Amino acid sequence: MLRPLLLWASENAWLRERMPRLPFVRRAVRRFMPGEDAPAAFAAAAEIQRQRMGCVLTLLGENVRNAADTEAVVRHYLEVIHEIQTRRLDAEVSVKLTHLGLDFDPALAETNLGTIAAAAAAAGQEVGVDMEGSAFTDRTLTLFRRVRATHANVGLCLQSYLRRTAADLDSLRALRPTIRLVKGAYAEPATIAFADKAEVDAEFLRLAQRLLSARTAEGPRVILGTHDRRLIAEIITWATAQGIPALAYEFHMLYGIGREEQRRLAAAGHRVCVLISYGAAWFPWYMRRLAERPANLWFVVKSLFAG
Ligand SMILES: Cc1cc2nc3c(=O)[nH]c(=O)nc-3n(C[C@H](O)[C@H](O)[C@H](O)COP(=O)(O)OP(=O)(O)OC[C@H]3O[C@@H](n4cnc5c(N)ncnc54)[C@H](O)[C@@H]3O)c2cc1C
Repeated sequence: MLRPLLLWASENAWLRERMPRLPFVRRAVRRFMPGEDAPAAFAAAAEIQRQRMGCVLTLLGENVRNAADTEAVVRHYLEVIHEIQTRRLDAEVSVKLTHLGLDFDPALAETNLGTIAAAAAAAGQEVGVDMEGSAFTDRTLTLFRRVRATHANVGLCLQSYLRRTAADLDSLRALRPTIRLVKGAYAEPATIAFADKAEVDAEFLRLAQRLLSARTAEGPRVILGTHDRRLIAEIITWATAQGIPALAYEFHMLYGIGREEQRRLAAAGHRVCVLISYGAAWFPWYMRRLAERPANLWFVVKSLFAG
């Protein structure tokens, strides 16, 4: 019941305008976000690195409407890439294509991603491309293929809840890109997405096995973006039985979620990275985090009284 409501709220302009001003909502969001600016993200990344884990940094924002806004986003990412290098952080950036202009000018978004990818390559870093709602899947794949043709350091996120993802993976096979597999965070109709959680999980396992089977010692990186302990255990058991070494794949989790599991996996010799999102435009992203686990609403209620 609550999930569709929260996902509806994530796209509501009236709420997006007003909710982030409420102090108790601002307090609650801190659970998933170290702060609104890049220095807060760098400090969190340094702390996570001390715990022998890596980080992925994302400036929050999506569906920007004009070229000047995308320019500011690109400038921001170029600075972040430079800071990651200067501070010797074990980190890379991940971007949303609608933050770079995909919504209104795909050619501009392509140029913007190319600029970020070139700077990252010069700094020895990869760049992840997030996957947004299904209205953008085709455009994201088209743009990704174009940029990947000249920038080998660009990877892509795919969602196991979409029925099309197995075919998309086939179509990307020749490129051998880094893939970050996730379950998917948006409201999608049952015609294109598995509605049943068990089906989404089973598809995640199948796709993870395909990615791992296709991988060689030279790569590509296989990133499993999930906090699902049962799935993680199943994948490790399967990979171990196939003789696939622990460092052949990575577990990525969101900042503030599954901290114990992150540390447990890292201590067991797995590569673990924490995705740190930061920035002022956190409302739609935060609503999606609440939708993933409506019990999180309790933290919002508690922060109402935490003064
Ligand atoms: C690194 C990373 C990158 C991502 N990138 C994208 C992307 O580009 N596009 C996209 O559509 N989605 C993305 N997602 C979100 C993803 O699609 C899922 O919505 C999210 O990860 C929840 O699914 P789960 O795999 O953790 O499994 P679930 O079955 O949803 O959760 C498993 C367990 O994890 C814990 N958990 C999960 N979510 C939360 C939460 N919000 N708060 C507290 N506990 C929680 C709970 O204990 C839950 O029982 C990303 C997720 C990660 C980890």
